[in-house]
Amino acid sequence: MRNRNPVEKIKERHDKKAAATTIRSYIWISFIIFTLIILALLWVFQYVFIKGYYSSMKAQMLYEAADVISKNIDSPHIEGDLRDLAFKNSLCIVVTDRNGRVIFLENTLGSYSFYELDIKGQDGQFLKSLRDDLDNRIEENPENGSITKKYENEDFKSLELFYVEKLETQSGDRYVYLEATVDPIDSTTAIIKNQLVYISIILLEVSFIITLFISQRLSRPIVNITKTAKKFAEGDYKTEFKSQSYQEVNELSEVLDNARVEVSKVSNLRRDLISNVSHDLRTPLTIIKSYAEMVRDLSGDNPEKRQEHLKVIIDESDRLSALVSSLLEISKLESGNMELEITEFPLHEKMTEVKQRYEILNLREGYNITFVEDTDVICRCDSSKIDQVLYNLINNAVNYCGEGKSITIRQINKPNFVRIQVTDDGAGIAREKLPMIFDRYYRDERSQRDKIGTGLGLSIVKEILKMHKFPFGVISEEGKGSTFWFEIAVVPQE
Ligand code: ADP
Repeated sequence: MRNRNPVEKIKERHDKKAAATTIRSYIWISFIIFTLIILALLWVFQYVFIKGYYSSMKAQMLYEAADVISKNIDSPHIEGDLRDLAFKNSLCIVVTDRNGRVIFLENTLGSYSFYELDIKGQDGQFLKSLRDDLDNRIEENPENGSITKKYENEDFKSLELFYVEKLETQSGDRYVYLEATVDPIDSTTAIIKNQLVYISIILLEVSFIITLFISQRLSRPIVNITKTAKKFAEGDYKTEFKSQSYQEVNELSEVLDNARVEVSKVSNLRRDLISNVSHDLRTPLTIIKSYAEMVRDLSGDNPEKRQEHLKVIIDESDRLSALVSSLLEISKLESGNMELEITEFPLHEKMTEVKQRYEILNLREGYNITFVEDTDVICRCDSSKIDQVLYNLINNAVNYCGEGKSITIRQINKPNFVRIQVTDDGAGIAREKLPMIFDRYYRDERSQRDKIGTGLGLSIVKEILKMHKFPFGVISEEGKGSTFWFEIAVVPQE
């Protein structure tokens, strides 16, 4: 496959972005389609199907009226009922006997009624033909008690519905004729069409306005977040992602804001690292250089002075190498490639080593480092790494202890663990700074240069104890000193 160059890739990404639909247009298209569907349904049902719908309604009404009549034909109030039916449903109702003698006639159709015209003008010929048809059909099958006929009236553009049924009553056979007219509904459909045009225009306008409103409301929070995210991408970590009006977008905004806080922390740490490390590298280098020059130019011949100057050079080189080792150590620890070498050893053995190492401080510098021991236990851990933890904590205690120069290292035995506490009588750590001291490169601004430190010690402690899965922490009160503690797994005693 051909490898595309970066410019092509960027162009392609840009093209893809341009091709993607925006929320706005997506909502627009959906809403317009929705509106068009509603309009289409309205037109189809109100305009296209109305004729068929109307005539089937009329036919239905005719059958229902016929049903009522057949059930009540022997009722003493039948005449009143027939009249009611005729008026309510705009019908012409005729009842005759077998010979065509009209027993009842109620016509609400006016002079258009075929039945009435037939009775008056043709001596009931049409009724007779209907009656004969019905009789024939009944003869064929006695189940057929009625017939329905339709007639398209070309002159009036109307549809006539005729219905005849034969009923057996107490006073002999009766033929009930029903007639309904399905009026020409062209004028009605014209009105509906007119209304539909208005409805369509209003619906389109309303949907246009609603879409505009909704799409703006939906896209605004996302646009806002995008604006902030752009600033964020350009390195502005101060602009907060504000909470937005929708839960989903709100969650996104919260997540991004957390990311912003984290990234800004990392960025601050990196900045601090560069300034710390460069400061810490430059100062000893400057000192080394100037003392080396002094040895070259001034004190070379004076063994006492030379000794003194060379000691400074050696001390500063130690400081440099400690800094570089710490940096290497932390990067190794964080790379995750480090393996623990777990061994078992008696704790008191290690304590003795520590005591010997710090004895010189007690003797020469007036420190008061005390050890409070419990019964000996067998530790199970990476011995040299736990040394690092211990020395880092004790060194910090030495660096940050108060005038009393008093430091206590305490062993407290617990089930399955031994707890080691390093307590000093220093200035302590402010409550708000406690969560940060285990962070990489964190150094209190009060930490002075003469207190050897890189801001890496406690983060090395944290990494090592995390690797071991040993608990650790700090208790500190400003003005009273601090107690750093951690626990080491021990081999259970039989
Ligand atoms: P540093 O090299 O600066 O000592 P650490 O990671 O060991 O770096 O410690 C981080 C910060 O925690 C120190 O700069 C200091 O402000 C604070 N700190 C550590 N130990 C103590 C202590 N025993 N008493 C007071 N502050 C401490």
